Amino acid sequence: MASNARASPLRLGSLVIQPVSDGVLRLDPSDIFADAAPEEWQPHVPRDDHGRVELGLTCLLVKAGERRILVDTGFGHRSDSSELGLLSRNMSQLGVAPHEVDAVVISHPHGDHIGGATTGTGKNVRLSYARARYWLGTADWDHFSRPDSLARAQLLVDKLLPLAAAEQLDLADGEREIAPGVRLLPLPGHTPGHIGVAFTSGQQMAVYVGDMIHHPLQIEHPDWCPIFDALPPLSRATRRALLDRARREGSLVLSYHLPFPGIGRIDGSWSPSRSGRGGASNRLHCAQ
Ligand SMILES: [Zn+2]
Repeated sequence: MASNARASPLRLGSLVIQPVSDGVLRLDPSDIFADAAPEEWQPHVPRDDHGRVELGLTCLLVKAGERRILVDTGFGHRSDSSELGLLSRNMSQLGVAPHEVDAVVISHPHGDHIGGATTGTGKNVRLSYARARYWLGTADWDHFSRPDSLARAQLLVDKLLPLAAAEQLDLADGEREIAPGVRLLPLPGHTPGHIGVAFTSGQQMAVYVGDMIHHPLQIEHPDWCPIFDALPPLSRATRRALLDRARREGSLVLSYHLPFPGIGRIDGSWSPSRSGRGGASNRLHCAQ
């Protein structure tokens, strides 16, 4: 079952990148393919008995020297679903405790990415990663901390505001290196301040794209925005530039919502990689 899926860690120079699943999410495909005619996507998209599409939820646990960095936090524990919120269980099975995490990157404050940043609600909120600095794009803080945004979403009150109240929230405006070879990358459009992460070592590069891609078909059709994109024209431009660059540079792409472990290359279409192993030109290798 996908929620129990394991993947080998990947090594990029001295960086070790471990995909960790938070489970699977099932969505109505019309939410994902809102920009496409049914005949364009239906023949290519497997659906479950309820007509829904399964999306991955793949966080990254990165070792950079002595530092541990978590990229996105999943949904957090959910009593209403056994398919979601599995990150903490899967991290503990890898032998990593929450207090060992030094930095947490929140690509954007939607529930499937920031849900695991804290536990509890109201006065009982606690930061899940007590020692960590949390990173968020400045434009997302500006947008989602506005009174009208907070009034619409209790999630933000319980997940976003406590990070700032604890003085453990750092904002990134533009590119920002948070550890050697680990650089936050502005990828705006899905939300105003949506960020990805570039991992580099020498000439090798991998890029975490967050919610710039929800489905492999968007690689062939970068103009297709899901209904969740807040700024569709900007999202299309960012997606096109990101995919062009990944294709040109041959970089590995690490995605949140493509099928676990969400790793592959852009080769006209999505070219998934199970372990990072591949042909002689594949410069990313298993750590083990
Ligand atoms: Zn998402």
